Formats: sequence, structure tokens, C-alpha cells
Amino acid sequence: MIDKLVELFALAQGWLFQGAVEPLMHYAGLGEFTEAAFEGTEWFLIGVCELVVLWIVLRPLEFFIPVHGFTDRRARWNDFVYTMIHRLGAFSILIFFVLDPLGDHIAGLLHLEGFKPFNLDDLWPGVTDQPVITFLIYLVVLDFFDYWYHRAEHHVGWWWGLHALHHSQRNMNLWSDNRNHLVDDFLRDMVMAVIALFIGVPPAQFVLLVVVSRMLQSLQHANVRIHFGALGERLLVSPRYHRSHHAIGSGHESHGAGSLGGHNFAVLFPVWDIVFRTARFSKTFEQTGIRDQLPQPVGSNRNYGNGFLEQQWLGLKRAAASARRHSS
Ligand SMILES: [Zn+2]
Ligand SMILES: [Zn+2]
Repeated sequence: MIDKLVELFALAQGWLFQGAVEPLMHYAGLGEFTEAAFEGTEWFLIGVCELVVLWIVLRPLEFFIPVHGFTDRRARWNDFVYTMIHRLGAFSILIFFVLDPLGDHIAGLLHLEGFKPFNLDDLWPGVTDQPVITFLIYLVVLDFFDYWYHRAEHHVGWWWGLHALHHSQRNMNLWSDNRNHLVDDFLRDMVMAVIALFIGVPPAQFVLLVVVSRMLQSLQHANVRIHFGALGERLLVSPRYHRSHHAIGSGHESHGAGSLGGHNFAVLFPVWDIVFRTARFSKTFEQTGIRDQLPQPVGSNRNYGNGFLEQQWLGLKRAAASARRHSS
């Protein structure tokens, strides 16, 4: 079954590449980049598959077991635009223009220095060379760095200015994982890919790691009443666990005056929150948003923007204002 799907995928990739991408590249005089474009086509198609699977699996769940019955259709559509931009376009372009050349450059430098990338396979022959085990180890190691990246997004003023866009969604839905500031998205993809390179993740595994991580994160943001039980909640981040991170007035404000601390920063594995004492296992499905979006006296009716462009612009303004405050 999986073999057949892989075959079908390769067929679609070849067909799309030869039928559309390659002729376009030649027409635009970009013939020398065709190899990278082939890889870009793969990421585009992976994105398409993700969107289809998410829609088939999560939309019915949102219909039958929603947290909040009311859905702001416009907000959901807007988050879908974010998902398309990131998973169909921006990520492929980033790989294409930045990561591939950067990867080659770093690999070249390391080679010159006589540095051999860390090789998990040799660590415990018979165990760490099993593909499933290596995959899980890479997933956990990358998740550790993701946890700290996420903490930094909440802790550093300008970074929170960008990340607040993600938290300003009061109607969380299956597409909300990608509701991020583009600058922050690029930064995170770059950081994670460079770390993957340094710890020696093979390219084929990198694709799978990205897909598994993105699918799980989409589930976490869906408007579904799902938790994994007492033990499960401690093993894998569930929709309820992550919702608690988005909870209005408690989940995520760890920066600035009147700071509320924040909890549940883990991206896939709550173990980091447990170890670094930021875990909170709430039994309720909380309302999401940012405190200052509320009317006075709690908040200030702050506007985080309705459409994509306004949200991006306001994010930049918040980040710049915070950086200015810090430097003065
Ligand atoms: Zn989130
Ligand atoms: Zn956050």
C-alpha cells in the first residue's frame, strides 16, 4: 500500500515538474536551478497531500466535537491562506533559495575543518541504526530545540511582538498552526533546518520529520474536544494541552509588565514543560486569545488585524516598537 502511494507520488511529481515547472524555469532563464526546483516541487506536493488529509480528518471532527460551536468563517479562511502560503509556497522557496545553498556551504566548511557530522548509527549498533529509532531520536532532539525557540518567542520583546499574531486567534481551527508572522516563520524554519544539518539528519528523514511535526501541530490547534488521557497528556501534546497555552489571560504572556508567566510551551512532547517546570494539565478547554484584546478594564480592545496583510504589518509595528523601547 505504502509502496503504491510512494509510486503515485513520484509519478505526480515527475508529471508536474516536466509539464509545468521545468518549462517555466527555462522560459524564465532559470535553467541552472532545475535540480532545486525538482525538490521544491516535492515540497509543494507534500503540502498539497497534508492539506487534503487534514481537511478529510479534522473537518468532520470539528463538526461533530467542537470546543466552541460558533466559528468565524472569515478567521478560518484567513488561517487557511496562511497554511497555503507556508506549506505550498514559502517553505519550498526557503529550501530552494536559502537552505540548499547554505547546507552545501556548511557541509563544505565542516569537511574542510575535518568535522564529521554526528552519526547516530554508530552510537549503539543494532539499536540506533534502526530507522524507527533514529527517527524518534531526531524527533525528540529537534523538539527540545523547538521548545526553547518557543520560549524565546514569548520572552524576548520584539519576538513576542511577532508571535502575538499566532496567539491573537480567538477562533482556533485546523489551519491556525500556520497563523504566524512570516519573519518568524522563516527564522524558525532556518534555525530548525540548520540544527537538523548539524546533528546529521539524513534528507529523506528530514522530510518525514517535518511532515509528522506539522500534522501533529495542526491537530493541536483544531477546534476539537480531544485530550489523550492522564498518561497520554504527558507523552504527546494534545489539542487540550496546547489550547491551555493559548488560554486568554494565563497561557502565554511571559513578557513585560504584569507578566502572567505562561505555560505549555512544548511543541510535540510535554516532557520539556515537565522538566523545566512550565507544564499545566488543565481539565477544561479554555477560551483563547490575548488579554489586551478584551475590552476595558481587563484589556484595551487592541487590534491585531483582520486580514493577512494587516496582521503582518501590525506584527512588524509591534516588534519595531518593542525593539525601540528596549534600546531607549
Ligand atoms: Zn499554537
Ligand atoms: Zn506561543
